[in-house]
Amino acid sequence: VQSNGSSEYLVKIPEIKFTKLFINGEFVDSISGKTFETIDPRTGEVITRIAEGDKEDIDFAVKAARYAFDNGPWPRLSGSARGRIMMKYADLINENVEILATLDTIDAGKLFSEGKASDIPQAAAILQYYAGAADKIHGATLKMSSELQAYTLKEPIGVVGHIIPWNFPSIMFFMKVSPALAAGCTMVVKPAEQTSLSALYYAHLAKLAGIPDGVINVITGYGPTAGAAISSHMDIDKVCFTGSTEVGRSVMQAAATSNLKAVSLELGGKSPLIIFDDADVDKAADLALLGILYNKGEICVASSRVFVQEGIYDEFVKKLAKKAKTWVVGDPFDPTVRQGPQVNKKQFEKILSYIEHGKREGATLLSGGKPCGKKGYYIEPTIFTDVMDDMIIAKDEIFGPVMSLMKFKTIDEVIKRANATKYGLGSRHCDQGLEHSQHCFKINPCWYHLD
Ligand code: NAD
Repeated sequence: VQSNGSSEYLVKIPEIKFTKLFINGEFVDSISGKTFETIDPRTGEVITRIAEGDKEDIDFAVKAARYAFDNGPWPRLSGSARGRIMMKYADLINENVEILATLDTIDAGKLFSEGKASDIPQAAAILQYYAGAADKIHGATLKMSSELQAYTLKEPIGVVGHIIPWNFPSIMFFMKVSPALAAGCTMVVKPAEQTSLSALYYAHLAKLAGIPDGVINVITGYGPTAGAAISSHMDIDKVCFTGSTEVGRSVMQAAATSNLKAVSLELGGKSPLIIFDDADVDKAADLALLGILYNKGEICVASSRVFVQEGIYDEFVKKLAKKAKTWVVGDPFDPTVRQGPQVNKKQFEKILSYIEHGKREGATLLSGGKPCGKKGYYIEPTIFTDVMDDMIIAKDEIFGPVMSLMKFKTIDEVIKRANATKYGLGSRHCDQGLEHSQHCFKINPCWYHLD
């Protein structure tokens, strides 16, 4: 039976069991004793309070991870033994799909049905993939001359710091943790402060699965304190960061000015979707909507700039406007809903301010543009037409349900315009009724070459 007051849908909100830092296999309070609120974006109400980790807690966690790396069993196990434990960990995730999907829904506003069918099973599948890779980490033999050959070995890099964003709390956790586990690394994970609940549950499952103490440590807390303490730490060998370009830059700087630790960054995007005259217009309109509204636009590869060729432009705009009207926004536990609330008040206000910018800059609002619902952080699916390439809404990553629609004539012109962005990440095009996607690969190596 639904608690939490707001929703009429029959979903049992679980008791929140894990709210403390997870260090060396134990849930502990932060050294300062401080806690912070985690908020349900459906209502704006407090779900619970979570331990607020800071620099001292990161130090404590790094010591545990270093000890586990230097003296513990994890890096010394065979790859297949690590893989078996990781498989068990994945099984436990699959056994707890319902509760994990619920945690991500109340914390991030994600659709419960998608969490159950996609995010949580995908998180387990990522772990399984890397479990399978754990015993296949090979070096190379290199023929140098007729008398000489050289070889390389891959060794775990050591202690890895992972800094995670809030838009895919479960998938992002395992995109980071899984390759590092497979390689035999130990780690300190800092989930986003908005969405810490599932990360703490994953810490609990790691212990149940038999991952040794000190291998995975989870420190909840804020970016400029706990996050920055990871990127500038002198005893972390590598930092893996996913988040905004701006913060990614500061992570790289801190890595450079501390111990020159290795860095992996996955940053923001303003990805183009290009629709050509020979596309199936109906299907292209569906794809365009899904491309920007999936996960309420809080997705790094969202198709936020949609370029439509002039021959089908008018027909496309009509179909898009009609379809946007049928898109259901509401409680993410409701199975008929396609779009839940934005993650928090700050993100909600940021998106609305971009919408105001778009209006002021002279773009035409084809649909949406307003908050909706009596409470919580819901925004209507918003589409702007007559968008010029140099408008702020066409240049900045909004990270919300806001599409900028633009017309083009030729392929050379559109490629130039699509590439004229400060971001990297994805791109897509539709023609002849097909969608072809090109996304960047997420490379997250947690080993180094030993020559
Ligand atoms: P963010 O950069 O604000 O935060 C990401 C993480 O960094 C959080 O854990 C945060 O606490 C931490 N952080 C903040 N300041 C820090 C600092 N000074 N030092 C160290 N850590 C710090 O990003 P966000 O708002 O959580 O996420 C949205 C952004 O993430 C978007 O730009 C999106 O495109 C990007 N993203 C990219 C991908 C990808 O795969 N490329 C995936 C998801 C999200």
